Amino acid sequence: MAPVSVYVLGLRNGLINLLIFLTVICIIIFLPQHIIQHAQYSNSYTLRLILSFLTMSFLSALYEYSRMQSYKNALELSRQYQDLAMRDPLTKLANRRNAATILEQEKSRLQRNNEPLSVLLCDLDHFKLVNDKYGHNGGDMVLTELSTLFKEQVRQQDCVARWGGEEFLIILPQTSAEQANIIAEKIRSSVEQHTVNFLSQQINVTISIGISQLSEDQSIDELINTADKCLYQAKTLGRNRVHP
Ligand code: GH3
Ligand code: MG
Ligand code: MG
Repeated sequence: MAPVSVYVLGLRNGLINLLIFLTVICIIIFLPQHIIQHAQYSNSYTLRLILSFLTMSFLSALYEYSRMQSYKNALELSRQYQDLAMRDPLTKLANRRNAATILEQEKSRLQRNNEPLSVLLCDLDHFKLVNDKYGHNGGDMVLTELSTLFKEQVRQQDCVARWGGEEFLIILPQTSAEQANIIAEKIRSSVEQHTVNFLSQQINVTISIGISQLSEDQSIDELINTADKCLYQAKTLGRNRVHP
């Protein structure tokens, strides 16, 4: 009874159930014969019975407790692995795979409702020089701070993802290319004005942004390619600019 009780009812309720059961058994065994009819057992037999029951209950509770702990650990590990598979470890933004999934989902949802979807492909200008001058840790700090800055500039429903090393993809549902252009300019300007403090040094960076709006019959790959071409244009035109 003890293992079944804690397994079926859970640790807490199972133990309560066992306690009630033991109390009832004790009342029956220790009540005088003229109140309730029951078989007569010797004191040592009764004691052994109760002690065996308590031992079994204790062992079952211990087993159930460790089973619950392992289950919780497995659940936490699975949550951590899921997070690792979907998030970029440095910036905690959605990673490329996650962004591609979100894009496909948004594409189906918005095309069903005939609503626009735009993306911004942002690339840091001369980021190699930042790494050369401030070291990889300085570069990492710039990437982390800019990730926060990007998130502050967009709406709740938008998604900021780390698309590559120093490339970020911003997914803007229900946004036309014209509206995306305004958002992109706001982001570009905020990056230009932002200063990253790293080991008592001040780092200033700029970004170039390519914009693309999803058109009918266009695939996600084509959408990204268009944004990439616009980004390339922004770079060749002198960087620190938005190209629609
Ligand atoms: P451009 O203006 O043409 O984009 O010049 P760039 O130097 O930014 O471009 P390039 O693609 O040549 O260099 C990107 C650099 O980004 C090279 C790489 O070392 C750096 N990088 C990529 N990922 C990381 C990262 O996670 N941390 C740091 N610190 N640097 C990174
Ligand atoms: Mg790049
Ligand atoms: Mg770059």
